[in-house]
Amino acid sequence: MLESILEYQKKDAQLVAIEREIAESKAKKVVNQMASFVKSAQQKLVVIEKNASSLLEEFKKISEEFYADVKKVESLSKKKYETLDKDELKACEKEANDLVAKLLVVEKNIASLSKKIKDTLNDFDVTKDQGMKAKQRHTQGLNSYNELVKSKQVEIDKLKKELEELASKTDKKFLTKYQKMREDKKFPVFVPLNANSCGGCSMELPSSQLNKIQENGMLECENCHRIIYIPKK
Ligand SMILES: [Zn+2]
Repeated sequence: MLESILEYQKKDAQLVAIEREIAESKAKKVVNQMASFVKSAQQKLVVIEKNASSLLEEFKKISEEFYADVKKVESLSKKKYETLDKDELKACEKEANDLVAKLLVVEKNIASLSKKIKDTLNDFDVTKDQGMKAKQRHTQGLNSYNELVKSKQVEIDKLKKELEELASKTDKKFLTKYQKMREDKKFPVFVPLNANSCGGCSMELPSSQLNKIQENGMLECENCHRIIYIPKK
């Protein structure tokens, strides 16, 4: 009974090796890296867009302020100064000076805002460009990943068929346990007793457990839940 599941596991190890080769391939890494790169570029673009729209809003506000002040200057310049007395002239002069001072500040703000907008738009273009390139590399990676899988397909199919045959000769209870652990990426599932320790996780078995394994020939490891068996000498 144990022999058949061990034989199954031995054959399955070949399939596990191929699956690992595929999962740890450069192509798979590129696919994963580029996928996360594309995602973060997209997130960054959303932030930049929000930023740009609030900058534009601010720009609109400042521009309106600027034109309102320009209008005030215009109306000041249209005044008939010959009809004004001394105090009124002084008041006009003060208003003109204040307006000029304010316009200088507004002008400065507009210049700095323009620069910010320009930088933001540039940032948007750069990020978009990087995102597009990452997308291309993602597609290329995906293509080579698919090619790799395709190149292994014959071997995979052959192993699967052989495993199916072996499965029919294997105890169903063992097989169910095996498949579950295999899905959890625990491999190998059946491990030999290795000098009183689990051959999977190396935990030393307490004497009560050692007695049990001597009695039954096998035992589930309390630590890693693999099945420990006593190897044939
Ligand atoms: Zn263990």
